[in-house]
Amino acid sequence: ASLYKIDGWGAPYFSVNSSGNISVRPYGSETLPHQEIDLMKIVKKVSQPKSNGGLGLQLPLIVRLPDVLKNRLESLQSAFDFAIRSQGYESHYQGVYPVKCNQDRFVIEDIVEFGSSFRFGLEAGSKPELLLTMSCLCKGSPEAFLVCNGFKDAEYISLALVARKLALNTVIVLEQEEELDLVIDISRKLGVLPVIGLRAKLRTKHSGHFGSTSGEKGKFGLTTMQILRVVRKLEQANMLHCLQLLHFHIGSQIPSTALLADGVGEAAQIYCELVRLGAGMKVIDIGGGLGIDYDGSRSTDSDISVGYGLEEYAAAVVQAVRYVCDRKFVKHPVICSESGRAIVSHHSILIFEAVSATVANTPTMSSLGLGLQYLEKLTDEACVGYQNLKEAAVRGELETCLLYADQFKERCVDQFKEGSLGIEQLAAVDVLCDLVSKTIGASDPVSTYHMNLSLFTSIPDFWAIGQLFPIVPIHRLDQRPGVKGILSDLTCDSDGKIDKFIGGESSLALHELEGQGGDGYYLGMFLGGAYQEALGGLHNLFGGPSVVRVSKSDGPHSFAVTRAVPGPSCGDVLRAMQHEPELMFEALKVRAEECGQEDELARAALSSSLIRSFHSMPYLVTNSSCANAIANN
Ligand code: PLP
Repeated sequence: ASLYKIDGWGAPYFSVNSSGNISVRPYGSETLPHQEIDLMKIVKKVSQPKSNGGLGLQLPLIVRLPDVLKNRLESLQSAFDFAIRSQGYESHYQGVYPVKCNQDRFVIEDIVEFGSSFRFGLEAGSKPELLLTMSCLCKGSPEAFLVCNGFKDAEYISLALVARKLALNTVIVLEQEEELDLVIDISRKLGVLPVIGLRAKLRTKHSGHFGSTSGEKGKFGLTTMQILRVVRKLEQANMLHCLQLLHFHIGSQIPSTALLADGVGEAAQIYCELVRLGAGMKVIDIGGGLGIDYDGSRSTDSDISVGYGLEEYAAAVVQAVRYVCDRKFVKHPVICSESGRAIVSHHSILIFEAVSATVANTPTMSSLGLGLQYLEKLTDEACVGYQNLKEAAVRGELETCLLYADQFKERCVDQFKEGSLGIEQLAAVDVLCDLVSKTIGASDPVSTYHMNLSLFTSIPDFWAIGQLFPIVPIHRLDQRPGVKGILSDLTCDSDGKIDKFIGGESSLALHELEGQGGDGYYLGMFLGGAYQEALGGLHNLFGGPSVVRVSKSDGPHSFAVTRAVPGPSCGDVLRAMQHEPELMFEALKVRAEECGQEDELARAALSSSLIRSFHSMPYLVTNSSCANAIANN
C-alpha cells in the first residue's frame, strides 16, 4: 500500500485487505471491517459467465459506488454545518452539484435523493443539462436550488423560466451582460418573476492550470462596471429585488485555503455592495474548486493536490463571508457551493486488464547464444568496433565500455541502412549492447504493459491536460511487484500511453503477468469520477466501458450489483459516426453471395459471425474473458 501511496489518496475509502486486494470502505471512516467490499470479488462477479452466476460483462469496467457518493455528499454538508455552528454563522449552507462533472442519470438521481433532506440542488451549464436537472429535481427538495450557469440564448432563458413556473427553485445566473435584456423581456412575456444571480469576475487569481480563466482578464463573468449597469437596468425595470444571488468561480482545484479565503472575501465585499445598492440579495454562491488530493501529498503548489480537507475548506469559506458581512452589518447570506470534483471523484473506479507486456530489453541466455554466433559474421569495420568494446570490458573501464557500445551500435545501424550488414548481425548487436548497458547498470529497464482500454475514451484528461490519477493493481498487493512499467492502450496512437504517475514517477511498479492460463492482471484508476466520462471520445471507435452500480448489502458477497450495463457495442459506436449497422450488415451479406457463398449453412455461419461482431464490444476478448464471451453467445 505504501508503494502506491494508497493511505494518502485513498483514505478513507480505499485500503488493502489481507488477501492483497483493494477494498472499498463504502462508509468512509465509519466503515466496519466486515463492511468492506473486495474489488476483485466485484470483477469476478461481473466478468464471470452468466452460466456461472456471473453477469458476463466485458471489461473495461466502471464500478460506481453509491454509498461512497452518499458519504461524500453528507461529509461536505456536515463540514459546512459544523463550521456554521462553531462560528455562530447565522444562515445555512445549501450546495448544488454541477452536473457537467458527471451527467450519468443514476449519479444525478442518487445525488438528488441523498441530498434531499438537506436541500441539495443541481447546477446546469447548457440547455440539455437544464432539461435533465429540471426533470431530476422534480423528485428533490422543493427548496433545492437549480442554478442556471453558462452562456444563454432566449431558448435557455425561456426554459429556465418555465422551470420556475414548475415550482423549481431556479436561479438564472447572468454570465454575460446581454443576457439581462432577454431575462427581463421573456419573464414579462411569460408572466414569471425571475430569480436572478450574476457571476462576478473577481480580481483574485488562481495561478494553477485550472485557474487560467480567473482574474480580471478571465473568460467568464461580469466586470465591476457591468455589475453596476445590471443593477441600474434592473432598478429601471423595477426588478432589483429579483437580483438575489452572487456567484463566482475562480477555477477547479483551488490549491490552498488562503487563496480560497481571498476569493470568497472579495466576493463577499461585492455581495455587501449589492445589498447596499438595494438588490434583494440572499445567497452567495462560491462556485466549484474544492480540490482533490490525487497524490495524497497535501501540497499547495501542484495541480493534483490540495493543502486542505473538507473541514478546513468549509471553515475558511464561512469565516471569510462572516468577517466581511459582520463588518458591513449585512445579514449573513445562505452559502451555496458548486463542488463537482469533490463530490463525484471517489465514487467511481475504472478497472481494466493488462493483456500483454513488451518486456524491457533484458537479453536472455538463448538470445545471447544466438547473437554471439551471428557476431562472428560481422563486417570488418564492425569487427573493429566490437574489438574496442571487448578490450575496454577486459580493462574494466565501464564508462569507455558504454561509449564504445553506443558507437558500435550506431555504426552497425548505419551499415544496415547501407545494406552491408545483415538483419541477424544487427539483432546480435542489439542484444550485446543491451547486455552491456544492463551489466553496467546504465539502463533502467522499463516494460510496456498493454491495457485493454482506450485512454482517449476513459482517461481523456491525462492525454489532454496531463492530469494524473492514482493507478494501482487491484490485487496481488501482498506480492512485491518486480517490474517497472508504463501503460499503453489499444489505440493506434502514440499518445495512447501513460508514462507519468503520481509521486513524479515515470513508471509504475507492476507484477509479472502470469501468462497463458493464468489469472488476468487488473488495474484500477481511482478518483476519476469527475469529468472523464463526458469528455472521453471515440478515438479508433473504442466506446465507453461497461458500468456496474455496486451497493453494500448484507448478503453473502457483502455487496449487491444493482445495475449492470454493457459498454457500447461495435454497432453502437459505428452508429455514432453516422454508419448504419443494419445496412452495413445487408451489404456484407450480398457481398458474401457475390463471392460464391452459395451453401446455405456457410452463409448462415457467416451471418451469425457478422452479427456477433456488430454486437460485441470493441475491446479485446482476453484469455480471462474469452470463456465469458463464448458462453454469452
Ligand atoms: N461551477 C462552475 C461555474 C464551473 O465552471 C465548474 C467547473 O469548472 C464547477 C462549478 C465545478 O468545479 P469543481 O469540479 O472544481 O468543483
